[in-house]
Amino acid sequence: MKRRKFIQNAALGTVGASTLASALVACSDTEKKTKAAAIDTQNKNAPVVIATWDVKDATAAAWQSLEKGNSALQAVIDGCGVEEANADGQSVGIGGLPDRDGRVTLDACVMNEHGDYGAVLCMENIKHPIAVAKMVMEDTPHVILAGVGAEQFAVSKGFKRENLLTEASKSGWEEWKKTAQYEPIINIENHDTIGMLVMDKNGTISGGCTTSGLAFKMAGRVGDSAVIGSGLFVDNEIGACTATGLGEEVLKTVGSYLVVELMRQGKSPDQACKEAVMRIVNKSKNYKNFQVGYIALNKKGETGSYSIHDGFVTTTYKNGINETKKPEYFDKL
Ligand code: ASP
Repeated sequence: MKRRKFIQNAALGTVGASTLASALVACSDTEKKTKAAAIDTQNKNAPVVIATWDVKDATAAAWQSLEKGNSALQAVIDGCGVEEANADGQSVGIGGLPDRDGRVTLDACVMNEHGDYGAVLCMENIKHPIAVAKMVMEDTPHVILAGVGAEQFAVSKGFKRENLLTEASKSGWEEWKKTAQYEPIINIENHDTIGMLVMDKNGTISGGCTTSGLAFKMAGRVGDSAVIGSGLFVDNEIGACTATGLGEEVLKTVGSYLVVELMRQGKSPDQACKEAVMRIVNKSKNYKNFQVGYIALNKKGETGSYSIHDGFVTTTYKNGINETKKPEYFDKL
């Protein structure tokens, strides 16, 4: 009897061990499912696409990309790529206004849900810097390539060199040279620069930002757009932010990182964007002369934005509706 019991127990022990192992596996599977379900509930607003400025074609392209089953990151590339290829847009990709020497130099970056980052700075002759930035992230041991190196890398990846200075942008530059006084023009120099944040249906967030920078900037000038934490920051546990406007001011306050950290502390996307804008307003005596705008997205799929002045708009694609909105602004002119 004792022996039988021993054998039983021993057998049970063996079964017990394997049952325990499978229970553990089952348990971790269950935990995973519970976690995933929690994420799903959190993300009742997902998927969502939000971008700076009135760029409905770009947000629509990002949405369609998600519908095809692409990742949030690929949706960012597809969405931003639309504006980069639009020769009429004078602040991004082809047609971007040049620097003081008549050269179109582009900055772009991306961040994915793992916190990976890739960027190109001051790159010439390549129309799609955001796609090149993704390749820097994925196919090189580096995170930033600048200038000629970025261009060479792009060409090695099959991108075509082309003249990005359109006739319209060239004559704008020639006109500017007649007076040659550099001053940022609120909302004019910024229009069409794209910062885009995308959450896919699983609640995964990625973002990108692409620009030709400030019109008639000094040669070699790089703004915030392609700099991690300034023009863009993504933390897939919390949310993401991207910026537009006078890059020097965003850089000095590490604006997008600040917004994400404020959301981590519990602020809504709107509140976080407002606080980051107010940091600039409170620090910069001449805030009346320039624009800065932020857009943010949190893990619940809620979006928010805020700018210094009137004139900033955002485009959101959510629940199948593609619409532009005018965010709240500070504006004490
Ligand atoms: N932030 C960009 C820069 O300073 C400009 C923009 O948003 O258009 O380069």
